[in-house]
Amino acid sequence: MSSLLAALKSKNILVSDGAWGTFLHQRGLQPGECPELWNSTHRADVFAIAKSYIDAGADMILTNSFGGSPLKLEHYGLQDRCAELNEAAAVISRTAAGTDHLVLGSIGPTGVLLMMGDVSEETLYDGFRIQAEALKRGGVDAICIETMSALDEACLAIRAARTFTGLEVVCTFTFEKTVSGEYRTMMGVSPAEMIQAVKEAGAAIIGTNCGNGFDQMIEIVQEIRSIDPVTPILVHANAGKPIFQDGKTVFPETPEMMAAKVREIIKSGANIIGGCCGTTPTHIQKLVDAVGICR
Ligand SMILES: [Zn+2]
Repeated sequence: MSSLLAALKSKNILVSDGAWGTFLHQRGLQPGECPELWNSTHRADVFAIAKSYIDAGADMILTNSFGGSPLKLEHYGLQDRCAELNEAAAVISRTAAGTDHLVLGSIGPTGVLLMMGDVSEETLYDGFRIQAEALKRGGVDAICIETMSALDEACLAIRAARTFTGLEVVCTFTFEKTVSGEYRTMMGVSPAEMIQAVKEAGAAIIGTNCGNGFDQMIEIVQEIRSIDPVTPILVHANAGKPIFQDGKTVFPETPEMMAAKVREIIKSGANIIGGCCGTTPTHIQKLVDAVGICR
């Protein structure tokens, strides 16, 4: 097992992976089908995605377990297979990454809201425990809790992961620019509120993913860095804001466009840079080249 913080110390800036969902669909995942079930039924396809990011030069990859909480799996009647499907996700990414690249176990939001009384704290916490423990059994080096928008849910996930795995935890939130020009999550959380809460809960690395292209991510990273001068920041940027074109969703930022802004996002304070929706192994390869020049 390797340490993400130690890797950061020795390489200064690290490159993460890009989108997974798009590629699962390209390989035949149907709308309404459970992506995490593919860790059991389509191992070779999931492995190919993981390997494509390693081959692109990423320092780390995530796992196909974003929707792997019992509450999400329940939509498909698969909640009893939570441990199995998460462990399989970790084994696949570990196999693709080998021992010289890092694997971050992905945990996404459950889709239920504590504040609305949809679920009890115990149920949420226990679900995150099962997921995080299984990812660790499968061999991940750290846990990445991502696309969060509610503080209470994110903090429960961080505490469960820290308590039951002891692994380093990354936590990233998804922000949107409001009409008044401030960044807030869907639940109204500001970057400042996120920083304080997730660090108190035990996150070693903080940051932002999804929802924005590189330009807005630069602004969010600057805001986080202005409040917190020391904690490492991970950013997974979308390939721009999606555009609906000829009946298809298209992400407008090319690999070259993203790579051109790498110097600026590093200057803003980002330490780990990767992609979210719409990014491809080519985007990651261009980021790797650009980071290499900046290191
Ligand atoms: Zn995304």
